[in-house]
Amino acid sequence: MTIKRPIYDLTPLELSSFCKENDLPDFVQAELDKWFFLKKDLDQSKWDKISKERMKFLNEKFSFELPKVVWQGLSSDGTRKFLIGLSDGNSVEAVAIPAKDRLTLCISSQVGCAIGCTFCHTGTQGLTRNLKAHEITGQFLAVSQWLIKNVSPTSRLSNIVFMGQGEPLHNFQNVKKSVEIFLNPNGIALSKTKVTLSTSGLVPQIEKWEEFPDINVAISLHAVRDDLRSQLMPINKRHDLKRLFDALKNIPLKTSRRITYEYLMIAGLNDQQQDIDGLCELLPKKRSKINLIPFNEYPGSDYKRPSDEQVLWFQDQLHKQGFTCTIRVTKGDDILAACGQLKTEFEKVNKWDGDRVSPKAIETYQPNE
Ligand code: SF4
Repeated sequence: MTIKRPIYDLTPLELSSFCKENDLPDFVQAELDKWFFLKKDLDQSKWDKISKERMKFLNEKFSFELPKVVWQGLSSDGTRKFLIGLSDGNSVEAVAIPAKDRLTLCISSQVGCAIGCTFCHTGTQGLTRNLKAHEITGQFLAVSQWLIKNVSPTSRLSNIVFMGQGEPLHNFQNVKKSVEIFLNPNGIALSKTKVTLSTSGLVPQIEKWEEFPDINVAISLHAVRDDLRSQLMPINKRHDLKRLFDALKNIPLKTSRRITYEYLMIAGLNDQQQDIDGLCELLPKKRSKINLIPFNEYPGSDYKRPSDEQVLWFQDQLHKQGFTCTIRVTKGDDILAACGQLKTEFEKVNKWDGDRVSPKAIETYQPNE
């Protein structure tokens, strides 16, 4: 059996070339963009501008089937976590996070991760493999369609953050390609200001940033001293703070855009006055935003979350120094929100076999237990 290429693996340019090479008129691509990518409506009987013969031809060439939502769970704060099954039996997590005026999907770029950050549950799993472009766009489309079917026909994911499992720049080409598909103005049509890529600081790939579409960039900083950062993020031993900041200086930023620095706050480790001083020294104020993330404890982790008072004090000190500084509200505590935790717990209970998972296993799987 030949495995058909998923239609959502094609960039707009690739789809246009395919149409040209196969004498398909322009409206075929327009219809695919409108129904499949924009409306996420898989009912091909509605795509009525495309003749039956042409639809048959497209179905012979491409798969229109989306990845499966193997499991989903809703947190009391509205965060909804999804486990997405891939065709080879692996699975990855995606998390839909609601806020006042947006619904953000946090997506994965790899199965596992090679970076090995010591505060991260996925980091303990090692890297299994990179995701292909369609496995990245597929997460977005599968979750969108699930929400449209099960929550509201008007549900719409408005933002994407590459902050799920994996280091996105480690999977440079596939992530770049998926971003091109997300930004297609006639298809999924996300604005480039609504897509954020978060990296642990892979310097050689940051040096190639100008090859990427112009989206937001976030750096997982977490420490301002090399010894502590190397302890938290072993990647810092190869690409230390000096190399990282030298590379970041050369990222082309439009006047109003800034780099976001993610700063995971761990009690007693990086939440003191000396860390504030270090941030002030390291970060250029006009080009930086700081996002404080109080550590989300998970079973077996060595680190502790600082008190709310400590987090607020830290933020206040940075405000006084003239920085834009936000605190990320930890979401989904009650549904295994730590990155990679759901996948691990789920796999203890049953195995997604690439085709089906027993309905009983889904019913009996309770991540809160
Ligand atoms: S925090 Fe990100 S980069 Fe670090 S191990 Fe976890 S998934 Fe990988």
